[in-house]
Amino acid sequence: MRDVQAAIDALGTLLGDRLSTSDSDRDVHGRDESSFPPAAPDAVAYPRSTEEVSAIVRTCSDHGVPVVAFGTGSSLEGHVLAVEGGVAVDTSLMDAILRVSIEDLDATVQPGVTRTALEKRVGREGAFFSVDPGADASLGGMAATGASGTNTVRYGTMRENVLALEVVLADARVIRTGTRARKSSAGYDLTHLFIGSEGTLGIITELTVRLRPIPEAISAAVCSFPTTAHAVATAIEIVQSGAPIARCELLDATMMGAVNAHAGLDHAEAPTLFLEFHGSPSEVEDDARYVEELAREHGGGDFAWSVRAEDRSRLWRARHNAYFAALGLRPGCRVLTTDVCVPVSELAAVIDATVEDVAGLTFPAPVLGHVADGNFHVMLLIDPDEDGDRQAATAVYERMVERAIAAGGTCTGEHGVGLGKRRALAAEAGPAVGVMRALKQALDPDDLLNPGKVLP
Ligand SMILES: Cc1cc2nc3c(=O)[nH]c(=O)nc-3n(C[C@H](O)[C@H](O)[C@H](O)COP(=O)(O)OP(=O)(O)OC[C@H]3O[C@@H](n4cnc5c(N)ncnc54)[C@H](O)[C@@H]3O)c2cc1C
Repeated sequence: MRDVQAAIDALGTLLGDRLSTSDSDRDVHGRDESSFPPAAPDAVAYPRSTEEVSAIVRTCSDHGVPVVAFGTGSSLEGHVLAVEGGVAVDTSLMDAILRVSIEDLDATVQPGVTRTALEKRVGREGAFFSVDPGADASLGGMAATGASGTNTVRYGTMRENVLALEVVLADARVIRTGTRARKSSAGYDLTHLFIGSEGTLGIITELTVRLRPIPEAISAAVCSFPTTAHAVATAIEIVQSGAPIARCELLDATMMGAVNAHAGLDHAEAPTLFLEFHGSPSEVEDDARYVEELAREHGGGDFAWSVRAEDRSRLWRARHNAYFAALGLRPGCRVLTTDVCVPVSELAAVIDATVEDVAGLTFPAPVLGHVADGNFHVMLLIDPDEDGDRQAATAVYERMVERAIAAGGTCTGEHGVGLGKRRALAAEAGPAVGVMRALKQALDPDDLLNPGKVLP
């Protein structure tokens, strides 16, 4: 029997002023960037340790109360909305970097450590953490959503960069999955079961992640093209040639206009690739020359180089802020975000069809993406009070998902399922959804961990 007040009383005794029922706290933890209506939790808990997370989960379980893990709330599909109420477990006070080994290129952190906090700490020692979503997300949230970023084409997603986890299960047991070894054949791969599980199977309380050495030389370039199709053709050829590109991001003309205005840049308002090369000075030079030649064959203009570190950071900051730049195209709008990912050989056809599809919309729909991974987004900037906008955007989104699945791809390359893509997951995974349900039932039989998410 659910007894929210009894749970809140017990958690208050456990956590003191680290249990909040204030309207402002509940409000912040019940909304995200998506166009879904807010849904506040009944209370917000701020644990400091694994033991406290376990005690919170045990208390909530005893009183039949849902538990929603909360990192920085930057997810885009209604993931953190407390649609059935309950307690949000905010991990922001679990922000310790527990160990760093430059010898082994790995680090162990609490889940509330953000990617830039880790970056800052390990950067001093000549290493970096490669997964860089646009938001300064928590590593717990990034693992829980299977996040990726601009470096993924070279260094992989969270799936390739998490070695081990500590997880609190729905019955409050604490387990460890994986080890610091780079490979293992020991039993079922539970680490990867929890990556992408969006807080529905357990709460991650510790992560061991891979680090990378900062490359000896880095150079970035920006190149514009006559059409989006020309830019995409270049990206595809870069991947197919095996050129070791580190970043390869597409922004269409609308997106470039927004980014220029938001970041004070003056790039051409044309479809553009943002590129980066990592390696020794001679490798970087050879790779860049080769890619420049490929771009020229596809109608690309001159490469605008950024070799100084501050110019490169400005460029990538602008790219990371593209989401907020796009919001400026229609003040007051909400975003219906799409996130399809297809095999790279199918990318040109899928993007062409999408560009054609959005051409007739009455609201802005900029296109951007990690195109070398076959992953792109259309940001559908809708007026939340206009039913017509929402219907048109939903129809575009549904056609995009259909096309992606028909092309052998997925409805979500990196944002996850949350509330927004549950039907799309059913279309993509078919009978495998039954296996997902069985796993959920085995690990969380009372459906208390982030209920209403992922499974259709
Ligand atoms: C401007 C902008 C740009 C973005 N760009 C990218 C991008 O390039 N690539 C990308 O992948 N995503 C991107 N995102 C989406 C978002 O940043 C990622 O989904 C990120 O991984 C979410 O992390 P978070 O800490 O904010 O998690 P939250 O939003 O707090 O939570 C996300 C989900 O994970 C669960 N969760 C959180 N912490 C834990 C934990 N410790 N244990 C178990 N479950 C947990 C939550 O319950 C929820 O279901 C972007 C978002 C914005 C706003």
